[in-house]
Amino acid sequence: MKQRILIIGSGFAGMWAAVSAARLAHLEGNDALEIAVLAPQPELRVRPRFYEANVASLTADLQPLFAELDIRFIAGHAERIDSAQNGVWYKTATSESTFITYDRLIVASGSHLHHFGIKGINEHGFDIDQLETAQRLEDHLNALANQPESNARNTVVVCGGGFTGIELATELPSRLKALLGDDTKTKVIVVERGSVIGGRYSEELRDIIRKASDELGIEWLLNTEIEVVDASGVTLKDGTHIDASTVVWTAGVKASPLGENLTAERDALGRFMVSPDLQIPGYNNIFATGDMAHAKTDDLGNTALMTCQHAIQLGKFAGHNAAASLLGVDALPYRQEVYVTCLDLGAWGAVYTEGWDQQVKMVRDEAKKLKIAITNELIYPPKADREIAFAAADPLAKFV
Ligand SMILES: Cc1cc2nc3c(=O)[nH]c(=O)nc-3n(C[C@H](O)[C@H](O)[C@H](O)COP(=O)(O)OP(=O)(O)OC[C@H]3O[C@@H](n4cnc5c(N)ncnc54)[C@H](O)[C@@H]3O)c2cc1C
Repeated sequence: MKQRILIIGSGFAGMWAAVSAARLAHLEGNDALEIAVLAPQPELRVRPRFYEANVASLTADLQPLFAELDIRFIAGHAERIDSAQNGVWYKTATSESTFITYDRLIVASGSHLHHFGIKGINEHGFDIDQLETAQRLEDHLNALANQPESNARNTVVVCGGGFTGIELATELPSRLKALLGDDTKTKVIVVERGSVIGGRYSEELRDIIRKASDELGIEWLLNTEIEVVDASGVTLKDGTHIDASTVVWTAGVKASPLGENLTAERDALGRFMVSPDLQIPGYNNIFATGDMAHAKTDDLGNTALMTCQHAIQLGKFAGHNAAASLLGVDALPYRQEVYVTCLDLGAWGAVYTEGWDQQVKMVRDEAKKLKIAITNELIYPPKADREIAFAAADPLAKFV
């Protein structure tokens, strides 16, 4: 009987884990491994692009790739890991409870936005965290044009000025103009708890974000927190009310709760504290990867972030190491010393930085071209061609 590597999730980490495991089995001339991906849909949802319009188009069908590499796809939603029985309970598309066993398990179920229990946010707020919620925002924005002109209609409040908040806020002026007309006085307000714009970034990067925000007319409310969201807009902690038909929450991400019954340490973001091989300590046949893994990237104290840049590489290492442990091959400790950021700044352009100290290397159109190359090509699945996919899945191949 074949031994099974079961991967939960078909996001950046899960997809690359599957291809990387298939690659190692191929290199070892082993066809006795079954590599199976369990996820709701056989597609990669390109979350880093969810601030863009036409969100329904931001998926990539994984079926041709999986067929080419003999990767089995199982449609379902994992509910519980039963580590004693080496299996996973999942719900099929028709809601039947089913059990599947594994020889190695890779948990790649990603992350979700966290609302911190803000009053009214579920009923009246929007977000761009998942395809369905980003679609809901898009439908709402499209419908604004049919509403009578008012301050509230023309105002969007973006809650949280981190990476996602900045990309969405800087994209919105042109999206709103396209929907509501060039002459409409639209307003985009970022509500940020921190005392400076882009507080977590380098001074150089912050300056660029400030400059782009000014040119695009984006208003930042710093040292400010949301108290309540309701149908008329938001009320801030200091009692100020902002009339806004659109309030988008972007702050705070938590790893998927899957595996919470495991006796394993998790960090404040809910990620498993993994070993250098990406195993969950205490469970030598379970690996965590992507947004589910808290992993050291180097010996300098840096840790993988919940980014697609890290999820892709974490996926390749997890798949390799899960297969290696079944094939009697040495594991590869996860390393990812190169770190870059490319932040979209809407009609202003973009900014590209290198290093953990975020040295600005490109701005405006030049950086925008790079951003488009990254988000429209680099992070998409490889071609459904064995040779090309396996070359890209090598954990030691150059990525960025
Ligand atoms: C709006 C936005 C903008 C972003 N911008 C950037 C950016 O510019 N640069 C960057 O590097 N990163 C960015 N990120 C972060 C990046 O998208 C994530 O870090 C990345 O998607 C993580 O990959 P993952 O494979 O771990 O998880 P995901 O991509 O979330 O994939 C998780 C997979 O698991 C599946 N799944 C979840 N639960 C279960 C379950 N119980 N059973 C079965 N399957 C399950 C999901 O369906 C999905 O297939 C952004 C994220 C968002 C939301």
